Amino acid sequence: MSYSNIAWLNDVRPNPYADQLALGFRQLRFAPSLEREYRDYFLEENFDLKRIALSVGLVIWLAFAVLDFYLVSSETRWWLLAVRLGVLVLLLGCGVLMIQRRHRNLLAPLSLTCIGALGIGAGAVVAIAHRSAPSFPYEGLLLVCMAAYFLVGLRLVEALGVSLVILVAYVGLELWAGLPWVRLINNLLFLLFGNLAGAVGCYLLEFKSREQFLVSRLMRVLADHDSLTGLCNRRSFNRQLERLWRQAQREQHGLALLLCDVDHFKAYNDRYGHQAGDQVLQQVARVLEDTARRPLDMAVRLGGEEFAVLLYGINDEEARYCAEKLRDALERRAIRHEASPTAQVLTMSIGVACVRPGPGMPLDRLYELYEQADRALYEGKALGRNRVVA
Ligand code: GH3
Ligand code: MG
Ligand code: MG
Repeated sequence: MSYSNIAWLNDVRPNPYADQLALGFRQLRFAPSLEREYRDYFLEENFDLKRIALSVGLVIWLAFAVLDFYLVSSETRWWLLAVRLGVLVLLLGCGVLMIQRRHRNLLAPLSLTCIGALGIGAGAVVAIAHRSAPSFPYEGLLLVCMAAYFLVGLRLVEALGVSLVILVAYVGLELWAGLPWVRLINNLLFLLFGNLAGAVGCYLLEFKSREQFLVSRLMRVLADHDSLTGLCNRRSFNRQLERLWRQAQREQHGLALLLCDVDHFKAYNDRYGHQAGDQVLQQVARVLEDTARRPLDMAVRLGGEEFAVLLYGINDEEARYCAEKLRDALERRAIRHEASPTAQVLTMSIGVACVRPGPGMPLDRLYELYEQADRALYEGKALGRNRVVA
C-alpha cells in the first residue's frame, strides 16, 4: 500500500512518522533518528522471540546429534560430536547473556553469533559426514538460514549477511572434505534458491513491521495531541498529571498547575472570524510551549480557548513568577483585539495552584489542585481579567 497521496496523512504533517510514511521506505531504512527509534522498538518487540528461537535451536541441534549416531559411521561420529558439543557450549553461553535484560545492546550480536555458530556448525557436520558418506543430508543448513530469516527476529540485512557467511563457510568446508563438484554445485544451488525465497519473505515481513511501527506511533501521537495547536490534549495531560504526582511524592518536589483562559475570545471570533481565532489559538500555544520547556513540564490544550501548563519541581513563588511571565509574553505579542473591553490586545487570565504531595497523600488531592487553580482563574476573571491569581 502506498501512503504518498493519502489525504488524511497530509493533514497530520509535519510529523516524523507521517512524513516517513509518505516518503516511503522501500530500502528498509528510515531517517536517522527514526531509524534509531525503530531499532530500539524492534529489539524490544523481538526480545521474547529470540529466547524462544534459542530454545528451539538447542532442541533441534540436540535431536540431530542423536540422529548422527544412526546415520554416520563410528570413526567420524566422534568428530561430529566434538562439533556438536562446541556449538552447544557457545549457544548456552550466549543464552545466559541473552536472557538478562541488562545486556540488551548485545542482543543483536549475540543472536547473530548463535545463528552463525549453528549454521557453520551444521556445515562442518555435513562436510565431515560427506568425507565418508557423500549422500549425507545437507538440507539442514537451509533450516538454519530459514531460522535466520523468520525465527530469530533479525532485520533483513542481518539475516542475509549471516546466511551468506554460512553458505561461504559451507562451500569452504565441502571443498576441504572433497565433495565431488557436481554434488557441491547441486547442493549450493538448492541452498541459494532456498535463501532467495527466505530473503523475499523476510523483506516483506520487515516492510510490514516498519509500516506497523510508523502507523502505531503516529496513532499514539494523534491520540495524545490536539490537532489544531499540536499541544498535548486532556487525555495525555491526565496521564502525565498522575505520573508527575507520584514522582513528586517520591522525590519530594513541588508541582504547579497553571490554568489559562483567553480573555473575551468569543468577541475575538465575532470580530475577526473563526479562522483568525484558530490562528490565534495556535499562537497562544507557542507562547505556552515556551514556558513549559523543561523535560517534565507540559503545555496542554484542555479544550476551546482553555489551556494548562504543568510545571514540575517548582515552589509557589516560582510558579507565580512563571505565570506572570506567561501572561506578559502573550500581551507582548500584541495581537490586536479591538473588541476586548480589557485591553487593545489579546490577553489571558491565569489561575495558579501548587502542591508538594506528601508520602501517602491520596490521588484525590490531585483533583483539589485542579479545583484550586480553577477557582483562582475564576477569581482572576472576576477581578477584571488579564491577571494572575494564585
Ligand atoms: P472570558 O473572558 O470570560 O473567558 O470570555 P470568553 O469569550 O473567552 O469565554 P467563552 O467561554 O464565553 O467563549 C469561548 C469561545 O471560544 C467560544 C467559542 O466560540 C470559542 N472557541 C472554542 N473553541 C474554539 C476553536 O477551536 N476555535 C475558535 N476559533 N474558537 C473557539
Ligand atoms: Mg475565555
Ligand atoms: Mg473559557
